[in-house]
Amino acid sequence: PDRVRSLWELTEYRAELSPRQPMFFDETTGGSGQTVTFGEVRDRALRLAAGFHGLGIGAGTRVLWQLPTWPLTVAVSLALARLGAVQIPVLHLHREREVGFALRQSGAAYAIVPGEWRGHDYAGTARKVAPAGVRVLSVADGLPEGAPGSRDALPDFVRPDGTPTWIYYTSGTTAAPKGVEHTDGSLLAGGIGLATALGTTDADTGSIAFPYAHIAGPDYVIAMLLGGFPAVVLDTFEPAAAVEAYRRHGVTMAGGSTAFYQAFLDESRRRRAHAGPGPAVPLVPTLRLLSGGGAPLPPELYHAVGRELECAVVHGYGMTECPMIAMGTPYDSDEQLAHTVGKPVTGARVRIARPDGGEARPGEAGEITVRGPMVCRGYTDPALTAGAFDADGWFRTGDLGLLRTDGHLVITGRLKDIVIRKGENISAQEVEELIRTHPAVGEVAVIGLPDRERGERVCAVVTLAEPEGTGLTLGALTAHLRRAGLMPQKLPEQLEILDALPRGGPLNKVLKGALRERFRER
Ligand code: ATP
Ligand code: MG
Repeated sequence: PDRVRSLWELTEYRAELSPRQPMFFDETTGGSGQTVTFGEVRDRALRLAAGFHGLGIGAGTRVLWQLPTWPLTVAVSLALARLGAVQIPVLHLHREREVGFALRQSGAAYAIVPGEWRGHDYAGTARKVAPAGVRVLSVADGLPEGAPGSRDALPDFVRPDGTPTWIYYTSGTTAAPKGVEHTDGSLLAGGIGLATALGTTDADTGSIAFPYAHIAGPDYVIAMLLGGFPAVVLDTFEPAAAVEAYRRHGVTMAGGSTAFYQAFLDESRRRRAHAGPGPAVPLVPTLRLLSGGGAPLPPELYHAVGRELECAVVHGYGMTECPMIAMGTPYDSDEQLAHTVGKPVTGARVRIARPDGGEARPGEAGEITVRGPMVCRGYTDPALTAGAFDADGWFRTGDLGLLRTDGHLVITGRLKDIVIRKGENISAQEVEELIRTHPAVGEVAVIGLPDRERGERVCAVVTLAEPEGTGLTLGALTAHLRRAGLMPQKLPEQLEILDALPRGGPLNKVLKGALRERFRER
């Protein structure tokens, strides 16, 4: 166990244990399915580390990287872990504004970017927005790499002492993105939580189809290093192509966001509709588990996906500040998986706090607070850190939820995502869940808008479902909600219909701030 107290030691341990075991099936653009072994990834990381060291990158050097989900990206990130650098992963989706913000805010000295990729000039953007003195390294120009077997060119490995080695930015759903400081230890703890919940073994084949620059990236790689299983790597998610790759490599575990589940469901239905006679084959016959998290999973979608794909669906709850908090497991019942986010993962403790700080009883809702080795050190802004932990050291998630008597966690909303109408707190999530059951509704976001008489009023912003969704009116919607049992005080008083909801961030979340801005004056 002494050898796995840092990400780099775990990497070395796995590479020595099973050097020829595949780690990645490279299905990225131009990857054509090549196998990259655990030994090869470790060796590449060492060569990159030697190259980076030659440029002056060492313990504590701040290095931002904005790279798509490539095997190279994982090697770059492991190389930085080998050197003890502080890495700042940034999503490939981000552009001038976000990259400039992260470079300035983090004080990065280096930026590693693709050059040009999928029509965007990353190197040009980074050079344009980088403060003076930042050195931009582009993959297109070739990253510096030492000679094979160049361990001698490297300084001795020093295990990180618990000072932050990772800075991640939050999605910016509620306010400006916050810089979150993680250590190797907090990410390792998250990876252990994930591996235990998924029940992974070296007979599994996973998949990385979400951005590796997301906080879930290293957690997933840590689960792979622990379990010794390979994963298909995709740098863009196109459902039909993903399914082909998953079939070719016999993927047993796939995962991503709620949108990912929906894409798989649609793809499966599309194929079944076009299939000839004969016994129906599941979309990916080897798939035993679909996993995800980061946003609510409506129970209807849970049931539909599980039935259609003939696999277990386990959904989890986490945040940039604590990537793994709770997760369903294949051992849970259908009812538990459909209505909860599972139990706290290995090492995590959850306490539901009442507004007065006392502990809520089972079944009673309050703010979700967390303790455990996976919780971040704090924010880059000390003022934010001070308000993030309660007097006893519990991390305040800002989310609302309850613990059931079976120990499963239910998320009921966000502290900041409530509408306060005539002094009554209304959870946007509760109203959204009921609106979603109306057949004409596609997507929905409930927001509070300033209102002279009521303080705030409930506004439902929806997209229409195809093809049933014509002519939805506020009257028809509220009649439906009354029948479904929603309290009259919580009924929407305004309905806005859009072609699409504004989305952003790594998980493509609905940007409620933008919606509030847009409809505030109406
Ligand atoms: P910001 O903190 O900048 O406002 P954000 O909180 O959306 O943005 P993330 O860290 O990416 O940024 O998201 C974490 C949040 O996502 C959680 O605090 C929670 O509100 C929500 N979330 C995560 N998983 C789930 C889930 N399974 N069900 C419901 N909500 C979830
Ligand atoms: Mg947050």
